[in-house]
Amino acid sequence: MLNSDTRAWTEIDLSKISHNVEEVRKLIPSTSKIMAIVKANAYGHGDVACAKELVKCGIDFFGVSSIDEAVNLRENGIKEEILILGYTPPIHFPLLVKYNILQTFVSLEYAQKANAFAKAYDVVIRGHVKVDTGMSRIGIICQDHEYHIDDVVNVYRLPNLDVCGIFSHFSVSDYLDEENKRFTENQIKLFDRVLDDLRHVGIEPGTKHLQNSYGILNYPDLKYDYVRPGLLWMGVTSDDAIEIRTNPDFIPILSWKANVSLVKQIQPGVSVSYGRHFKASETRKVATVAIGYADGFPRCVSNKGYQVLIHGQYAPIIGNVCMDQMMIDITGIEDVKEGDIVTIVGNDGDKQIKIDELSRLANTINNETLCWIASRVPRIYK
Ligand SMILES: *Cc1c(COP(=O)(O)O)cnc(C)c1O
Repeated sequence: MLNSDTRAWTEIDLSKISHNVEEVRKLIPSTSKIMAIVKANAYGHGDVACAKELVKCGIDFFGVSSIDEAVNLRENGIKEEILILGYTPPIHFPLLVKYNILQTFVSLEYAQKANAFAKAYDVVIRGHVKVDTGMSRIGIICQDHEYHIDDVVNVYRLPNLDVCGIFSHFSVSDYLDEENKRFTENQIKLFDRVLDDLRHVGIEPGTKHLQNSYGILNYPDLKYDYVRPGLLWMGVTSDDAIEIRTNPDFIPILSWKANVSLVKQIQPGVSVSYGRHFKASETRKVATVAIGYADGFPRCVSNKGYQVLIHGQYAPIIGNVCMDQMMIDITGIEDVKEGDIVTIVGNDGDKQIKIDELSRLANTINNETLCWIASRVPRIYK
C-alpha cells in the first residue's frame, strides 16, 4: 500500500490533469493557450511533478511566484517559458538571464533598474509588463482615475529589455453581482485600451493575458493569447458554493489521507483532547488519527463537526485538533484498527469529501487550504 511508511500523506492523481486541462480548453477560444500557474509549489501539489505532467498535456508556459520557484523548475528539466508573476529583488537579476526566465515588470522604476543591470552586463532581460487595471497590487496604474500609459510605453522602449508580453489581473471575477460584473468588465476595457494605445504609438504589445481561473469560468470568450489558471488544472475552484457562469466538469487531483494509530472505547463522562471540549455522554468508540495542524489541517476546524471518511463511512472529528494527531468518533463503524486509512479529503467507497467543505469551516478558500498542507506531508503521485 502507498501508506505503509508514512502517517499522513497526500495522493496526487496526475492522470486527471489532462482531463482538467481539456475542460479549460473547451471553455476558451481555440486561439487562446494556457499558461499553467504552478506558484507556491503548485498550491502544495508539487510543482515539478505537476509541471512535467502539464508539459505532456501540451502546456508551453508556466507562471510562478518567485525566482527560486522558477530556477527549481529549470533545474528539474522544465524547458518551457516561465514567467515570474511577482517581484524579484534586483540582486537576483543575473539568475533571470542565466536561466532564461521572464520577469514581470511591476513598475516603470523597476523596469528601469532591470534595464540598467542589463546594460551594465551587456545582457537582455526578458519579461512581461504588468498593468494595474483595478487590483492595486503590482503593475503600472491604468485605471479610470489615473492612467499612466506613458509609463507602459516607456517600459517597452527600454533598450536592454525584451518586453515580449503584457498582462493584468482580475480582482472580482468570481463575483457575479451587477457592481462587481461592471468592475470586471471595466478592467477588460482598460486592458484593451492599453493595448490600443500601445498600437497607436507603434508598439506591438506581444503576448497578452488576463484571466485567472474565475476569469476563465465567468468570462470565457475573451480572446487574449493566454489564460492563467491555477486552481482549474488542479480540478477545483476557490469554493464550490460560488456560482459561476459556465458548467465545466473538473476533477480534483488531490486526496489527503492519514493512518489510524490507535482505537479505543471511552466511557461516559470521559473527555477528549486539549480543552476537554468533547465529553462522551455514553460509551463511544474513538480512533486516534496521525495527522494534526503541523500537517496543515486547520486547528480552527476543531469542534465544528467536520467529518472524515473511514471504511467508506463518515466519522466526525471530536475535541481539539492537536499538532500531530486528532481524534474521531467511530462508534458504529466495524473493525477499525491501527493502520487503517482515514480520508481527510477525497473519496472512500461511494462517498466523497471535497476540500471546499474543509475550507468553508476554516472560513477561507481552497487556494489557502491547499497551501497549508505542510511540507512534511509526503506527496505521492499516481
Ligand atoms: C495566482 C495567480 C493566477 C492563478 O489564479 P487561480 O485563481 O488559481 O487561477 C493567475 N494570475 C496571477 C497573476 C496570479 O497571481
